[in-house]
Amino acid sequence: SHVPDRRPLFSFASHTSSVPAGFHPPPRRVVVTGGAGFVGSHLVDRLLEQGDSVIVVDNFFTGRKDNVAHHLRNPRFELLRHDVVEPILLENSVLHLYIIKSGFLNNYYKTNVMGTLNMLGLAKRIGARFLLTSTSEVYGDPLEHPQKETYWGHVNPIGVRSCYDEGKRTAETLTMDYHRGGGVEVRIARIFNTYGPRMCLDDGRVVSNFVAQALRRQPMTVYGDGKQTRSFQYVSDLVAGLMALMEGDHIGPFNLGNPGEFTMLELAQVVKETIDPMATIEFKPNTADDPHMRKPDITKAKQLLRWEPKVSLREGLPLMVKDFRQRILDE
Ligand code: NAD
Ligand code: UDP
Ligand code: UDP
Repeated sequence: SHVPDRRPLFSFASHTSSVPAGFHPPPRRVVVTGGAGFVGSHLVDRLLEQGDSVIVVDNFFTGRKDNVAHHLRNPRFELLRHDVVEPILLENSVLHLYIIKSGFLNNYYKTNVMGTLNMLGLAKRIGARFLLTSTSEVYGDPLEHPQKETYWGHVNPIGVRSCYDEGKRTAETLTMDYHRGGGVEVRIARIFNTYGPRMCLDDGRVVSNFVAQALRRQPMTVYGDGKQTRSFQYVSDLVAGLMALMEGDHIGPFNLGNPGEFTMLELAQVVKETIDPMATIEFKPNTADDPHMRKPDITKAKQLLRWEPKVSLREGLPLMVKDFRQRILDE
């Protein structure tokens, strides 16, 4: 098959086989919006590790200063409390600058739309490369399984989830509009359900709920019949995918997810085996418009980014449990 020209510019295990030892990309300044959050903070770790300077812009809505506290004394790291819904002027003479747009949670159409618009305006003004962290939610309750990037999705525009789904769909539209019309260099990732250390303890996502509930010896709350499926990706795999996307020549969108698909009942079983064989489950009514199934087709990312996830749910979950156990003890 055709392998495109891709310059692997950075130095970490799975992507560096063709890179001479000791080769490093020139350092850049990278703005990471949402960088005090779960995914953002892991990405910040990686960027600083490879020598980049990082400016985190975060309003601490779901993110925590603790997630980046280990960098506060690093001269290459800056932390700005700011809501991306408001415009922001950052002066920057360095050309290479990536922006991870990452508003989150129950997301609020306005954060996705205004935040993405402002960051695209910033990227346009300073000539930076822009990365959008979109989501598998753009596929809605999919009629195609597994989902390829070419699938246009099945979303209820006025449903309870639409502020999030449609917010990200609009963010993708804005990103392509600024690319085609404004000449901004862009990248789009469609992230599937991701878990790992530093996840918000109480934002209601299924993996964090089950793990926190099992650790607290509360029943795990399964919504609906528990037969709906999701595919769970460990955060280090996602970070590797985002880095490959940022450094590469392809705009995307790219699905970044682990094709290992589980029903919520199967997930509860894995959490039970990992944390507490006595853990129980409790059924609760499901929310409206909940997608029945979700699983990424990652053929495109495998071919063009030479990326694929490495960590299975059974390997990744204990790493997250260690972090959650500590944080729950500290409460
Ligand atoms: P998170 O909630 O841990 O991180 C989001 C961060 O954005 C937080 O630090 C929060 O304080 C900050 N934020 C929210 N609104 C803001 C605003 N108006 N101004 C400035 N900062 C703001 O969530 P996450 O899981 O790390 O998600 C990161 C990105 O990845 C999001 O764009 C999300 O949509 C996307 N994503 C995540 C998943 C997943 O499973 N974790 C799946 C699909 C897409
Ligand atoms: N913007 C920003 N920082 C910048 C440049 C622009 O926050 O450095 C905001 C700007 O306030 C506007 C949005 O980004 O709301 C889009 O900017 P653009 O220049 O594309 O549009 P315009 O300002 O012409 O409407
Ligand atoms: N879910 C569940 N129990 C919970 C939280 C969520 O059974 O305590 C279910 C939810 O109904 C959905 C799936 O888990 O079918 C994934 O939900 P999540 O909010 O984590 O992600 P998303 O729906 O955005 O993929």
